[in-house]
Amino acid sequence: MNSIRYDFRSDTVTRPSAGMRQAMAEAEVGDDVFGDDPTVNRLEQRMAALLGKDAAIFVPSGTQSNLLALMSHCGRGDEFIAGQQAHLYSHEAGGAAVLGSIQPQPIAHQADGTMDLAEIEAAIKPDDNHYARTTVIALENTFGGKVLPVSYMAQVADIAKRHELGFHLDGARAFNACVALGLDIKSFTAPFDSVSICLSKGLGAPIGSVLIGRQDLIDKARRHRKMLGGGMRQSGILAAAGLYALDHNVDRLADDHRRAKTLAEGLAAYPALKVTMPDTNIVFVDVEAELGQRFTSFLEKRGVGMIGYGKQRWVTHLDVDDDTVTGALAEVAAFFRG
Ligand SMILES: *Cc1c(COP(=O)(O)O)cnc(C)c1O
Repeated sequence: MNSIRYDFRSDTVTRPSAGMRQAMAEAEVGDDVFGDDPTVNRLEQRMAALLGKDAAIFVPSGTQSNLLALMSHCGRGDEFIAGQQAHLYSHEAGGAAVLGSIQPQPIAHQADGTMDLAEIEAAIKPDDNHYARTTVIALENTFGGKVLPVSYMAQVADIAKRHELGFHLDGARAFNACVALGLDIKSFTAPFDSVSICLSKGLGAPIGSVLIGRQDLIDKARRHRKMLGGGMRQSGILAAAGLYALDHNVDRLADDHRRAKTLAEGLAAYPALKVTMPDTNIVFVDVEAELGQRFTSFLEKRGVGMIGYGKQRWVTHLDVDDDTVTGALAEVAAFFRG
């Protein structure tokens, strides 16, 4: 896929910068399964402190992080409540059911991305032998690049508390939400017992996510990580990339958001494209059916990468600069001229 000159497919396509590679090369390491890797320990302690939680665990992926969280909140035959389009329900290969023996209870999203509070509450099962035991509610924020309101998270937290349920945040892009809101990550994640954050998305690290939360949950997650084959050895090389990302790549997410807006405004100039204005770094574009796949195929040939054709997703990231946006918009203009 090296023919892609303008790569808007995902914020996971970033390559580690020279500075990040240097930090990785120089990382002090040890055997993390023995708890001996000082760089991993530093990353975990730093994330726990940043979020004001007890502990954290460094894991290979966001998928594993969410699975560890669900397995730590739930026992076999328990149930989690999540959105119908939540990544941990719809995009993680059914891992919670397959590997955790945990049953999902999906709830439809409303137009604004939230779940109806009454529907959440109605889905919580009574204590009765007929039902799976509802154990945890999971939210995702940002959700499809949208920032869901802090007040909504607080309302769901209140439901979780009243029913004595755990509360998990899939915050793969939580830092994008915080930068967009101008809010610190500690306040943003305060209502949650566990939070999963990806280092490999907008933060630009090559690999890794961190699960942060209550001590008992992280202790269980450590055992589950080993069981799932996620125990890593001199992983300080990877954790160093995460620490570098926290130092250099958080505030600059504002640049990604600004460029997403510029891109969205540029695309919105064409009546055949229905553009949803972005809160953060993800732009969704509904392409008029008549254009079919022609638009996407044209852009692909011209080296513009994005996901989808009827409904396109364009994502800005570290390796997209102002010229990338200008260049891609020039190709879009060329299509509509021709
Ligand atoms: C990417 C993503 C994940 C999973 O991360 P991987 O590292 O790709 O496994 C989980 N949740 C959300 C919302 C994501 O965007």
